[in-house]
Amino acid sequence: MRNPYIREQKEIFGRKVLAVLPVHYPKEILTALDILAVEMWGPPGTPRGPDAGRLQAYVCAVARNALAFMASGGADAVDGALFPHTCDSIQGLATQAPDMGGWTKPSFRFIHPKGEWRPSSHTFVEKEMRSLAGELEAFAGKPLDETRLRDAVRLHREIDDVRAELLANRSRIEMNDREFYTLLRRGEYLWPEEHLDELRAARENLRSDTVQKGIPIMITGYVPEPMSIFDAIGNAGAFVAVDDYAAVGRRVVRPAAEAGEDPFRDLADAYFQAPPCPTRSSNRSIRMAWLAGLYDKGGAAGVIVHEPKFCEPELFDVPGLRETFSAKKAPLLYLEGELETELPGQAVTRIEAFVEMLGSGSRA
Ligand code: SF4
Repeated sequence: MRNPYIREQKEIFGRKVLAVLPVHYPKEILTALDILAVEMWGPPGTPRGPDAGRLQAYVCAVARNALAFMASGGADAVDGALFPHTCDSIQGLATQAPDMGGWTKPSFRFIHPKGEWRPSSHTFVEKEMRSLAGELEAFAGKPLDETRLRDAVRLHREIDDVRAELLANRSRIEMNDREFYTLLRRGEYLWPEEHLDELRAARENLRSDTVQKGIPIMITGYVPEPMSIFDAIGNAGAFVAVDDYAAVGRRVVRPAAEAGEDPFRDLADAYFQAPPCPTRSSNRSIRMAWLAGLYDKGGAAGVIVHEPKFCEPELFDVPGLRETFSAKKAPLLYLEGELETELPGQAVTRIEAFVEMLGSGSRA
């Protein structure tokens, strides 16, 4: 975990800290209650402790590593954990961590509706958010002030605005992919205002001309781990012009929703305005049309699909991705990983060959 930062947040600001499992959750409520969210995407690498073995070998590395990490005391610096009901594995973790992983700190769940907007699902998610807010009030030891929640909604919409602008203008940013994603992923644990300052600074440095000279590609997948995937892409002569990682671009509401009078209603609206995501069981045709649009708009020359092994929600859409991009005659490279700390040599070679093929204009 980010222990020195967590310590500082507690000591200087008196904030509570919540480890948050992927993917979607109403962070605005945490911000309004002075709770720091520290997201836990695994963590990557070999499971830190033997408790990964309590889950079947065919469960994804994100869930296995998270259980091992929590059970071995890796997350002890936080005060509690939030388990969004993203998939069966994370739903299971919410009980496995306390039952078998020795997790004794408070656990919270966020149950979100699946599928597209319906009046019933809007009402459901709004009620879930209110219920979570009630539980977190007790955890934070303070009541939720509506004005603060409204401010938090505005703050997070502004973060979305700047992130969207940076993602849309990737070719005008003088950073390599690893630097750019490091900046964006700092939002997984920084206090939101601090993250916004860094994003604004990057926006101020946007160049008026294109500075990325490599072959533009699109990437879609779950989480950019290992980050050395970007070194492999850059070394091969390409850069990520279009992002659809669940951890990154898929959580950016575009265009950001207008804040209204009722912050819970705004949060429920924003939930449905986020880009389509298989972890929310978005309609596949809508998602494919969205991705095809992103691809065209970003001027990408090919697509890398980068998924965790055994991830049911993500893998469910892979046939649709193949079909969609094959119909567009867009070359596609499929990579599957297990949250390694470094990209395996075989994957590096496949990326090199893919980019070379894109550069020569031939098809796989
Ligand atoms: S199955 Fe997929 S969505 Fe669920 S924890 Fe694993 S990687 Fe995440």
